[in-house]
Amino acid sequence: MLPYGRHAIDDDDLRAVDVVLRGDWLTTGPTVEAFERSLVDVTGAPFAVALNSGTAALHAAVDLLDLGPGDEVIVPSLTFVATANAVVYCQGRPVFAEVSPATMTLDPADVRRRITSRTRAIVVVHFAGLVADLAPIVAIADQHGLRVIEDAAHALGARRDGAGMASRSDLATFSFHPVKHITTLEGGAVTARSSTDADRMRRFRNHGLSSDVRARERERTWRYDMVQLGFNYRLSDVGAALGISQLRKLDENLRRRRTLAAAYRAALAGIGGLELQTVDRGDEHAWHIFPVLLKLDRLRVDRDVILRALRSENIGANVHYAPVHLQPYYRELLGSAPGDLPVTEDVAQRLITLPLFPAMTDRDLKDVIAALRRILDWYAA
Ligand SMILES: *Cc1c(COP(=O)(O)O)cnc(C)c1O
Repeated sequence: MLPYGRHAIDDDDLRAVDVVLRGDWLTTGPTVEAFERSLVDVTGAPFAVALNSGTAALHAAVDLLDLGPGDEVIVPSLTFVATANAVVYCQGRPVFAEVSPATMTLDPADVRRRITSRTRAIVVVHFAGLVADLAPIVAIADQHGLRVIEDAAHALGARRDGAGMASRSDLATFSFHPVKHITTLEGGAVTARSSTDADRMRRFRNHGLSSDVRARERERTWRYDMVQLGFNYRLSDVGAALGISQLRKLDENLRRRRTLAAAYRAALAGIGGLELQTVDRGDEHAWHIFPVLLKLDRLRVDRDVILRALRSENIGANVHYAPVHLQPYYRELLGSAPGDLPVTEDVAQRLITLPLFPAMTDRDLKDVIAALRRILDWYAA
């Protein structure tokens, strides 16, 4: 089965991990700091804090908001559940907003409608690797005194009009799960503009302690103070070494992703039963995934039949995502129900993610396109 995404590990990665495994610091050592410096270089953000998952990164970022019970954070429903869960971890209430069907990213007009006196922040998701429409969202946030967090799990290396991650908001979170652009096995990071935020997140990932083990060694003291509530969200030095090595190949891998995506778009643009994500000239899309929307009125069957037909041709197409507001947990928590977000619900039942990853061959791509054409023709209304 051709998967929808796949990591790429080479001999350089293995050597980098080997060096750390044979050394003194498997975790809380100097390689984590070196990885953070590499992330600063790649993102252009002043600070980067590495954590042991993208979910921990979101948790650390939302913790900075000091939410009280009932405080609201606007999030898209078309995202991975972790985006909304981070708000609930911090006693907040996620308020789900619509995406624009063309870009599949947060719709600024709908965000504006959902602001109340309890709103504290807006989380945007750069869906599939396309930078969301941040300028109007930051303008709304400034007007109401809200913070903006970018869930950039899909978007390492994405830019819009030359501006990279973390250039328009205070905080951007990343995931280094193997299916994302680079991997540290499990892992994540937050980039920040202020050292106050970065320092607080460094404590957050280490039980809320005011110093780490190497700082105590340097100062020749055993004493530690717990100054806030934190977690063990530390990335290992082994993961960080892998991350540094993987980051060296980011540009090459992004080029390959962009080449494959351009080939998909050229081949699929002419198919009447499909819509593609709208990408403008200024967008440097990171293409974490390649989503397409089916036009169900042109088909005799629903999305799941098309998905099964692709899989029976060994094409591991997938769906990103089921709307979060319709997950059983959120229906129970918030009383949300079908019909609450009609645009998102319509998009979500038409979405298919096609395979896309750097090691995918031109031949794989041709196979996917041919199978999709054949299946859509067969089921045409
Ligand atoms: C992958 C992902 C996450 C979570 O990252 P993990 O590293 O798996 O915890 C959060 N948000 C989005 C949009 C993601 O795609």
